[in-house]
Amino acid sequence: MSVLIVGSIALDTVKTPVEEHADLLGGSASYAALAASFFSPVRLVGVVGNDFPESEFDFWRTRNIDSGGVQRANGKTFRWSGEYSWDLNTRQTRSVALNVFEHFKPELPDSYRKTDFVLLANIAPSLQAHVLDQMERPRFVVADTMDLWIETTRSDLDALLPRIDLLILNDSEAREMTKETSLIKAGRRIRKFGPSYVAIKKGEHGALLFGEGEFFSCGAYPLEDIHDPTGAGDTFAGGMAGYLAGAVKKVHFTDLRKAMIYGSVLASFAVEAFSLEGLRSLSMDEINQRYEMFKLMSQFEVPA
Ligand code: AMP
Repeated sequence: MSVLIVGSIALDTVKTPVEEHADLLGGSASYAALAASFFSPVRLVGVVGNDFPESEFDFWRTRNIDSGGVQRANGKTFRWSGEYSWDLNTRQTRSVALNVFEHFKPELPDSYRKTDFVLLANIAPSLQAHVLDQMERPRFVVADTMDLWIETTRSDLDALLPRIDLLILNDSEAREMTKETSLIKAGRRIRKFGPSYVAIKKGEHGALLFGEGEFFSCGAYPLEDIHDPTGAGDTFAGGMAGYLAGAVKKVHFTDLRKAMIYGSVLASFAVEAFSLEGLRSLSMDEINQRYEMFKLMSQFEVPA
């Protein structure tokens, strides 16, 4: 089954302590769509400006990513720039230029309205809701969010939460949203706001998953070299949603556990290179090898 993905499509400038690259493809939807496309066909919704390279549309076509929902508007593509500190965990936003994103209103092609699986990648919650308004009862809705929306548009976010099945957010966002220091309490609390399932990402320390009386925790894939952590969360969400759309009719907690491992595997490849380069050349074999490694790493009783 296909997955519909809406979010930002950006040109990013990223600085780490050792490298800087300008105007590379980024945005929550770009990362999520490419990650999801390994498991299921993608219907992409977003906006780009006249400066956006046509070659990306060609690339999407080769990856079963339908860009019929991507508007090309008059003006410049959304631009974001960030700088990482030495540990590559903390990041400061250096600049944001909304450009064509400022007046973006996602409009779904008719053929998208019946898509069963939806990923509302990180954009303003009012836009995420506008996408859901146009859909005919999707089976499973995943949403991502960020600190900006928790701080500035909390009532829009609160209105969205009962309409989604799985909320994905990172540890600091979960704490900010609930004012709980314990992530276990935070995850349980967020479920009460509406979503049946909550995934809390902890960066290099893995992720937690909460359901009704159900809990799962996994580590992150141990990497020697991280070049660019940008988009790790979007890739994680895309990997999860893509896996669910491709493999599952009705989502159960056991499927979400597997989805979370696939999300972690995809994110591990994304951060090994700048922008989306780690995902562009990736093969399904490499994904499956890391998935198997996760299985081995989580075994603590080894058969004799
Ligand atoms: P992450 O590293 O998962 O936080 O995601 C980074 C991506 O989010 C970058 O590629 C940015 O282009 C994109 N981004 C940054 N700020 C925003 C925003 N306010 N809305 C949507 N996308 C954003």
